[in-house]
Amino acid sequence: MPNLGVRVTEQEVSMVLREKGTQETKATPKERVHQRILIVGGGTAGLTVAAQLRRRGVEGVGVLEPSEQHYYQPAWTLVGGGVYPAEATVRPTKNYIPAGVSWLRDAAAEVDPDRQIVRTQGGREIRYDFLVVAAGIQLDWHKVEGLEATLGRNGVTSNYRYDLAPKTWTFLQGLKGGVALFTAPGTPIKCGGAPQKIMYLAADYLRRKGFAKDTQIIFGSAGTTIFGVPEVKAVLDRVVARYGIRTEFHHELVAVDGEKKEATFEFTPNHPQVAVNPQAPRPRVTLPFDFLHVVPPQSAPDFLKQSPLADPSNPLGWVQVDKHTLQHVRYPNVFSLGDASSLPTSKTGAAIRKQAPVLVENLLAVMKGKEPQKRYDGYTSCPLVTAYGKMFLAEFLYDNRWHPTLPINTQKERYDMWLLKKYGLPLMYWHLMLRGRA
Ligand SMILES: Cc1cc2nc3c(=O)[nH]c(=O)nc-3n(C[C@H](O)[C@H](O)[C@H](O)COP(=O)(O)OP(=O)(O)OC[C@H]3O[C@@H](n4cnc5c(N)ncnc54)[C@H](O)[C@@H]3O)c2cc1C
Repeated sequence: MPNLGVRVTEQEVSMVLREKGTQETKATPKERVHQRILIVGGGTAGLTVAAQLRRRGVEGVGVLEPSEQHYYQPAWTLVGGGVYPAEATVRPTKNYIPAGVSWLRDAAAEVDPDRQIVRTQGGREIRYDFLVVAAGIQLDWHKVEGLEATLGRNGVTSNYRYDLAPKTWTFLQGLKGGVALFTAPGTPIKCGGAPQKIMYLAADYLRRKGFAKDTQIIFGSAGTTIFGVPEVKAVLDRVVARYGIRTEFHHELVAVDGEKKEATFEFTPNHPQVAVNPQAPRPRVTLPFDFLHVVPPQSAPDFLKQSPLADPSNPLGWVQVDKHTLQHVRYPNVFSLGDASSLPTSKTGAAIRKQAPVLVENLLAVMKGKEPQKRYDGYTSCPLVTAYGKMFLAEFLYDNRWHPTLPINTQKERYDMWLLKKYGLPLMYWHLMLRGRA
């Protein structure tokens, strides 16, 4: 049973460097460190929670985060579309570790929630009283045969990596006709709309350049429809029709041959043809391409999948938390949010903005020996860029319930929403959200 009453008296840290008010702790191998609250992962969710905890005056917070760079990933769609510089999406992590929070620059290798210990790749043992898991999502490129060998070459790209998003734009500019293929996997992914946002930008780009009539755009998706929320689907169906995009649902990308420029899809179990006879081998189809934008299958980071925190009923290994309180279902001193969590909503930064205050409030309650009271309703939003200068903001709750929050009609493509995406949201992210103010 986890110990909820322990208080940290001092941190067992061998060396503390002070940089701009931030404590960066470096440790010798096998060192033992103790944090009152340990946040695993200093990405969108981890930094937001750390900042909000500090604003509430909480002491003894440590962030375990290996990366020296922090990325604003939502802008990678615009990088791929050639309207946002990649360099503007990255800033030093150290500038966003709140003053008074320890930055443990290392990566978690193992979590032992029964003993309240996280072991790191650098050989540290970090004991904690309370744990917040915010380690993001793992991109499983290796699950698509031949993909890793050809990424960034042969017209194969993905906005899901900082180094590859600029390649999307390079390859797009080289496209003068043929087949432009866009894929979406069957697993949950971060930003469910991202596989198609870049497709609409590409379609608009080709139209403006006069190459649209010579290009067949295909959306090969393991999903069953263009979007699960009926109000969003209605708008996107019109966008797809406007660009003449061919949709192939129930299609999971399983192999890419970069040299031959061929992509192979397997029918998913819910494909009408497979559903008739689930025992029969799943049919495969191979499509030629001139341009291929891939969104890889995704899952929880391996160290979480292998831990007792993972949902045992789901091989993708999400941290199993209550969908309203964000508290772990078996370990009351553990919370999780963001992409790594089991929260059954679309995984976005916008969702984290609503999850973080709920988590912080409930964590503080549990630290005082109370029951968590705050409830997260599944709010998430997806800024669906549908053309250069057009964006359609999809906001929804659990169970795909449409939930617009702005005092304007957002159920259509709008120029002011495009400005929000390109200028407003990045500013809000860097200056408010990561600072614990939004
Ligand atoms: C192309 C693209 C477009 C997107 N568009 C939008 C959008 O328009 N709107 C929107 O709201 N969201 C969008 N998103 C999604 C959004 O970026 C993510 O949902 C959000 O960043 C998730 O936050 P997180 O903290 O859970 O994960 P991350 O921000 O990815 O952070 C996870 C952190 O954990 C760290 N980590 C990993 N392994 C370990 C380990 N073993 N130990 C310790 N730390 C570890 C990583 O280094 C990282 O810093 C988009 C994402 C992409 C890729």
